Parts: sequence; structure tokens; C-alpha cells
Amino acid sequence: MAAPPPFPTRGLRDAEFREGVVTVAHSLRAEYDWDAGQAIGRYLDGLAEGRILGRECRQCGRVLVPPRMFCERCFRPTDRWADVPATGVVTTFSICWVTWDMRPLEVPELPAVIELADGGILHRLGEVDPADVRIGMRVEAVWKPSAEREGSILDIRHWRPVPS
Ligand SMILES: [Zn+2]
Repeated sequence: MAAPPPFPTRGLRDAEFREGVVTVAHSLRAEYDWDAGQAIGRYLDGLAEGRILGRECRQCGRVLVPPRMFCERCFRPTDRWADVPATGVVTTFSICWVTWDMRPLEVPELPAVIELADGGILHRLGEVDPADVRIGMRVEAVWKPSAEREGSILDIRHWRPVPS
């Protein structure tokens, strides 16, 4: 297949912008699919089933969550899938009174890193008073009903403290 002819180009002058000489005469047609990859694809499928899946590396004994097909510590492929309990520990958190686009919130969002097996995921806390959140707090996943899950990290609504 022959290469397309080079697109004729030249620098645009300021006057061309001011006078509206420069216009877009066609619309962009962008069609694409996005592939999560083998490890994250299976992880997302697991979330739709109400399961958290990790990848075990037999050499170092770690279970990687989120899963990866390669152990960066041992520099070798991971060996098998492993179900990971849907409980974890808060390793860091924030109390956010504004949204990402700076709108104030009446009730704060509580993003947190939840440590699961040998990794952590960024998610959000719920069913907890912000003043009671602590690093080291044990939490459990609160899942959407199975009919509402769609293979997304948001199939977990939030993480709440484990009753003691
Ligand atoms: Zn390893």
C-alpha cells in the first residue's frame, strides 16, 4: 500500500485566527476499543462476580493485587490466580470537602488506599464518620447487588469498618 501524500502545511498567521480564516471543515471520526489486558481484564471479571483476584508469585510468596502477570521483584511471570479476601487495612486516606473540579461537598468523600494481600488499591470509604477514620483501620468491601455489577472497580460501592 502506497503511503498517503504528505499533507501540505505552513505556519498560520495571527490574522488568520482573528479573521476566522481558519476553520475545521470535517469532524474527527475516532473509533477504538480499549483492552484492559490479561491481568486487569480477569480482575474486572472477578469484581463482576463479587470476587477480588490476585496473582501469586511462588518464588517470593506474594499475592499481587491488583494482579500482574509479572512479578517485578523476582523478574519472572506470576504463577496462578488467587482469591483474596474482601477485607483489608487502610494505609492512607484523605477527607475531601471538594470534588476534583472544585465544587464544595456537604458530605466529604473519603478516598483511601486499602491494603489487600500484597498490594493496595485506591478506593473510597463509607458508613464511617470521617473523624473516626484511622490508618490501620480494618475494612470490608460493600458490594453492589450482583445484578448491578458490570466488571468495574465501582462494583465495590465502598469499604466500611469491620465490626469489632
Ligand atoms: Zn515474586
